[in-house]
Amino acid sequence: METWRSCATCGVENELDDEVCAICADERQYLPPGGQRWTTSAERAAEGCEIEIGGLEPDLFGLTAHPKADIGQTALLVRTPAGNLLWDVPGYLDDEAIAAVDELGGVAAIMASHPHMYGAQLEWARAFGATVWVSERDRHWVRREGAEIRGWTEPFEVLPGIRAVQLGGHFPGSAVALWSAGASGRGVLLSGDTIVAVPAAGWVSFQRSYPNRIPLSAAVVERVSADALGLSFDRLYDNFGGVVAESAAAAVQRSAARYASWVRGDHDSDT
Ligand SMILES: [Zn+2]
Repeated sequence: METWRSCATCGVENELDDEVCAICADERQYLPPGGQRWTTSAERAAEGCEIEIGGLEPDLFGLTAHPKADIGQTALLVRTPAGNLLWDVPGYLDDEAIAAVDELGGVAAIMASHPHMYGAQLEWARAFGATVWVSERDRHWVRREGAEIRGWTEPFEVLPGIRAVQLGGHFPGSAVALWSAGASGRGVLLSGDTIVAVPAAGWVSFQRSYPNRIPLSAAVVERVSADALGLSFDRLYDNFGGVVAESAAAAVQRSAARYASWVRGDHDSDT
């Protein structure tokens, strides 16, 4: 018998005792019309769910569930000589996905940028004997517990060559990972939606809630930007397949300045 299930809206794993998904009931997410609905791996498999895996650059792969089994993220698998990081986590996995990821070297460490991206993190960890790293600041959002989960707060090397840092903003523990070997050694920032790419080339944005369009303050966006710019990167991948392919640090800096000026009211006379 299953001892867990997934929220049908956000895809995050849940033990069987919550009536409503806490993540979706929060103001940063939403309960769908008709209210809470739960699902299981077996139901998703019966619906034809599968994980599509695509190469993004050498040693970086995107994993996306079709049809959507989570918020719709593209999880990222970073391949390193010391083992692989699964960053943000699909809300589904099956034997085909396990075999495909195994061929890429498996998974040594799992980390979500923030609770919306927990997906089926414990299930993925158990398939590969991996450790799940969860921000202590957001630990209370974990709705399925296991011995594989370990807390963290201070910046650390989640694997050699990949540094995890909490910038906050969207969630207090919202994290990014700096993969120094990425972008041919110029450095890649896995930014989750702590920092998101936008359609305009060379720009990014920041939000407390993306679906509900709740902004952050000027002070927080300036802090997130300053802390991100303490890391050395040239390319940025967000959690929905968005990428700033080059000069991403400059994009973060100019975008934070523009965002802060608008939420501070500098341009109110233009509205
Ligand atoms: Zn949910």
